[in-house]
Amino acid sequence: MNIAAKTPSVAAEAAAILEKLGVDKALYTEGDMSSYSPVTGEKIGSLKTVSADEAAKKIEKAHVAFRAWRLVPAPKRGELVRLLGEELRAAKDDLGRLVSIEAGKIRSEGLGEVQEMIDICDFAVGLSRQLYGLTIATERPGHRMMETWHPLGVVGIISAFNFPVAVWSWNAALALICGDAVIWKPSEKTPLTALASQVILDRALARFGDAPEGLSQVLIGDRTIGEILVDHPKVPLVSATGSTRMGREVGPRLAKRFARAILELGGNNAGIVCPSADLDMALRAIAFGAMGTAGQRCTTLRRLFVHKSVYDQLVPRLKKAYQSVSVGDPLHSSALVGPLIDKAAFDNMQKAIAEAKAHGGSVTGGERIDVGYADGYYAKPALVEMPKQAGPVMEETFAPILYVMPYNDFDAVIDEHNAVAAGLSSSIFTRDMQESERFLAADGSDCGIANVNIGTSGAEIGGAFGGEKETGGGRESGSDAWRAYMRRATNTVNYSKALPLAQGVSFDIE
Ligand code: NAD
Repeated sequence: MNIAAKTPSVAAEAAAILEKLGVDKALYTEGDMSSYSPVTGEKIGSLKTVSADEAAKKIEKAHVAFRAWRLVPAPKRGELVRLLGEELRAAKDDLGRLVSIEAGKIRSEGLGEVQEMIDICDFAVGLSRQLYGLTIATERPGHRMMETWHPLGVVGIISAFNFPVAVWSWNAALALICGDAVIWKPSEKTPLTALASQVILDRALARFGDAPEGLSQVLIGDRTIGEILVDHPKVPLVSATGSTRMGREVGPRLAKRFARAILELGGNNAGIVCPSADLDMALRAIAFGAMGTAGQRCTTLRRLFVHKSVYDQLVPRLKKAYQSVSVGDPLHSSALVGPLIDKAAFDNMQKAIAEAKAHGGSVTGGERIDVGYADGYYAKPALVEMPKQAGPVMEETFAPILYVMPYNDFDAVIDEHNAVAAGLSSSIFTRDMQESERFLAADGSDCGIANVNIGTSGAEIGGAFGGEKETGGGRESGSDAWRAYMRRATNTVNYSKALPLAQGVSFDIE
C-alpha cells in the first residue's frame, strides 16, 4: 500500500517551529545556502553561512570558553547537561517534527531521535560524577601513582544528514561534562535542526547562569567549513560522522597535526539467519533493520545470509512484507517508509539495483513511488536475491536495498560476513548457543556491534557506538567513550624522604 497525502507547506511549518523555539529568523531566511525538505522537495530555508574568517574566530572564542569551563567542577558541568535534558523534553514534539521535516523520518523516528538526545543527557549527568581515574601500585616505597583525567579542549563535531541532531548530542553531552567546548558543523542537508538544537542548549545555558560565552557554537556551511575545524590547531579532537569517503579525507588531515579523531563512517551491515532461528522474530527484525528510515541508517541491514534449510520459509514472507510495506509522506500519513534524502540518493539506488541485476540479482521492489510531490523521492524498498556476494553487495548504498543470499556452511558464512570493507553492525538469528557464541567470539563477527536475535539497527546510548575497518574505529555515546574527550595524566607522588629511581637505576651525584 502506498500512502499519498497532501502536505500543507512544510516550509511554513518549519518556519513556525523555528519561531516557536526562538531561532533568529534572519539565520534561516536571509542567507545564500538553500535547504530542502525531502518530504516534498520544497525549499525550507535560506541559511546564513559562516566565512572562513568567522569560523576561525568562533573557534578562538570557543577556546577561551574552554579555558574557563575546564575549571568548573565536573558535577556542576553535569548540571548544565541536566538542564539541556529538561529543555529537550519540553521541546521534544517540535524538534522531533523538525527532524521529520528536514530528514524525512517517520514521526516515531523523528521523536525517537530526540529521545536519544534526552537519554544521552541523563547518561552524561550521572557520568559527571564518575570520571574515574585509577590508583596504581608503585614499585617504589613512599610513593603513590594515579591517573587524572583532565578536560581536553575544543571538540569539533561534524555530522551527517541521517541523524541530524542525535549525533551532536552524543558528542556534546559528553564533551560538556568532560569540561570541553563544542563547535558543530552540521550536514548542509539538515542545518535547521542544528539551529534549533543550539537555541535549546542556549536556554539551558541561560538557566545555568554563568557558563562562559561561546561554549557551544554552530558553523553553518559546506564541507570547506568542516575542513577549517579539521585543520585548526586549537581543536584537539574532531568527531566526524559521515561517509567513508569523508573519513578518508578527514582522518589523514587530523593525523598530520596529531589531533585526535573519532571517525563514525559508513556501514555494510549483515545478518545471518540460522536453521534454528525464530523466523517470526527474524522477519520483524529484518524488516525494521532493512526498510526502516528508508534504509538511511549507518546501521541499516544491507546483507542477509539465510541458511538453505529455512530460505524457502523465510524469504517468500520477507518478499511479501516488501510488497506490502507502506511508503509515503512521513508527516501526514502512517507510512512506515518515508522519502530518500534527495534525487542523488534515488539515482544511486537505481544504479546499484541495475548493477545487482547484471550480477544475476532478482529484484522485488525498488521502483519510484508517486506520493504526489514531483520533487520528493520515494522508493519502494528493494529486496534483491543474489546468487552470491559480489558487485554492489560489497559496498554501502545509502538506500533501502537488502541483498539476500543463501548459505550452507557456518564457517564459510562467517568469512563471507566479514569479507566487506566496513565493520559497523551485525546480527545473528539462532537458538543454537554454539552458533551465537561463535558469532560473538574472536573469530566471529569483526564488527563494532554484534547482536544476537535482534537486528543491526536501533542501538541504545548505554553502549559504546562505532565500528571497525573502514567504519573508522571511533566510539562515542556510552560505556567508556567519554575518555576520548579528556586527556589522561599519570601522576607519581613521592611522600618519602628518599629518591629511589625506578628499575633500580642509580644516579648518585656529589
Ligand atoms: P557525508 O560524508 O556526505 O557528509 C557528512 C558530513 O561531513 C557533512 O557535514 C559534510 O559537510 C562533512 N564533510 C564532507 N567532506 C568533508 C571534508 N573533506 N572535510 C570536512 N567535512 C566534510 O555523509 P552523509 O551523506 O551526510 O551521511 C551518510 C553517510 O554517513 C553514510 O555513509 C552513513 O553510513 C554515514 N553515517 C555513519 C554513522 C556512524 O555512526 N558510523 C552515523 C550516521 C551516518
